[in-house]
Amino acid sequence: MSAAPVPKPPDRPPVPRAGGPLTQAVLDSIADPTTRAVELSLRASIDDLTGLANRTTFFARLRDALSRRTRLAVVFLDLDNFKLVNDTLGHNAGDDLLRQVAERLRRVVRPEDLVARLGGDEFAILAGDIDDLAAEGLARRICDALVPAFRLDGRERHITGSVGCRTCSAADLETVSEETLLRDADAAMYRAKDSGRNGVHVFSDETRLAVLERVELEQGLRAALADQQLEVHYQPIVDLRSSRVTGVEALLRWPGGRGPDEFIPVAEETGLIVPIGRFVLEEVCAQLGRWGRAGLTELVATINVSAYQLREPGFVEAVAEVTARHGLSPSTVCLEFTESAFAAPDERTLASLHALKDLGIYLAIDDFGVGTSALSQLKRLPVEVLKVDRSFVDGLGSDPEDTAIVASILSLAHAMGLHVVAEGVEAPAQAEELLALGCSAAQGWLFAPAMPADDVPGFVLASRRRQPVRRPAARRREPAPAPERERAQSSLVLELMSQIGITVEGT
Ligand code: C2E
Ligand code: MG
Ligand code: MG
Repeated sequence: MSAAPVPKPPDRPPVPRAGGPLTQAVLDSIADPTTRAVELSLRASIDDLTGLANRTTFFARLRDALSRRTRLAVVFLDLDNFKLVNDTLGHNAGDDLLRQVAERLRRVVRPEDLVARLGGDEFAILAGDIDDLAAEGLARRICDALVPAFRLDGRERHITGSVGCRTCSAADLETVSEETLLRDADAAMYRAKDSGRNGVHVFSDETRLAVLERVELEQGLRAALADQQLEVHYQPIVDLRSSRVTGVEALLRWPGGRGPDEFIPVAEETGLIVPIGRFVLEEVCAQLGRWGRAGLTELVATINVSAYQLREPGFVEAVAEVTARHGLSPSTVCLEFTESAFAAPDERTLASLHALKDLGIYLAIDDFGVGTSALSQLKRLPVEVLKVDRSFVDGLGSDPEDTAIVASILSLAHAMGLHVVAEGVEAPAQAEELLALGCSAAQGWLFAPAMPADDVPGFVLASRRRQPVRRPAARRREPAPAPERERAQSSLVLELMSQIGITVEGT
């Protein structure tokens, strides 16, 4: 008996290639109802928005390439701050940008390479028969393709991208799966983001280790939060004129774990920052309540808040509820946001900030002067406090440029009726210079590092007995040489002010 004929598998739909994506015109030309099924498969294989291959097609082609056992590379591109484009220019502009990026990618790859949009602002390129050097070259061409300005919403805009590249040698071909390759390319892309974005990272054993460490850190942090191991410590904020403690900054500590500079970014990436932030808010407000009942009523507690928390629905309500439950006056709480949170605030962020201010909560910009500048937004933001970043305080009294920058920030803040707190004061000379420049609030190791809550009352009471920082004679010390620096400094202030729409008469 002969075997039943094996039905021939249907032909795979042609997969779109980088050089010739299937366009609407091609699809429209398939009018014959008998080819309807083909049309449907074509539609299922391309990304509607850009005409590139979609995720399914990309994986299918990657699987094919692996089975053919040729060396290959997967390049992963993620646009930097794409969300900002959507939030500030709207989704149409976001779509338009994705189409323009797709077009540029098509132009820089080789005709035989496959370009796909995997979703959102994530693109992947599959390049076959390629050695490591050529793959890195391709990754760089992709990054460079974004350099010329994009025309969006009638204006030229500069957008950058972070690119990860995973090459696959003949030896790798035996062991890797398509999921592993894409995951590694994605991990390399994250390393490019970590190194300041707008760059390329090629996956290596070191990347694999870093990824493992990050996963461990995330798991450890999750466990620390669940097991209530995280603690809040408090760094005193001092009035330089009287040496008295006027407030404290709440700083998170993970005993036995990493420092906040390492774990906060991971918490932000993984969304863990929301429950962590909620814990800090609860903990600090409960502590303020206890201090208040013990007679320490005048302390303002500053809490660091990540931009992610601010965008979280219900954040303002949570702040109102927690402060009320602990019987606090809202003016004893100050929320501190890093400058980048304000670089391009969307309507929701602005509305939340105004609602917090209406509650009577103080708002501060942390690390002012570094990172993405919020300068152009300053006039629109309901903030009361600027915290001068430690990097500028470092050179106070020794580096004329640092002194000029701090003086400029102070002039700007005073012109706008804002308070200023200087961070990271370590030396008496810095404190003296701050006083001379007219800044009276500071924190830093010169006074005290962050300490457990139980140590705060003793420190506050002792500060009431301490000698104030020696105030320099009425002479206002200016960084030398006076005339040029004064001019440079005042023009910097004027420039800063004009950037935010404040004009000064007579200039
Ligand atoms: P930050 O808010 O700018 O906090 C000031 C940092 O400077 C703290 O580092 C503090 O310990 C350190 N510092 C204070 N005085 C001095 C000094 O005189 N010299 C030097 N060299 N450093 C000084 P820390 O505690 O490691 O926190 C680092 C950052 O982590 C904070 O920077 C803040 O951005 C973030 N962070 C800490 N706790 C939280 C939190 O509860 N939530 C959020 N979202 N971020 C937090
Ligand atoms: Mg802070
Ligand atoms: Mg700071």
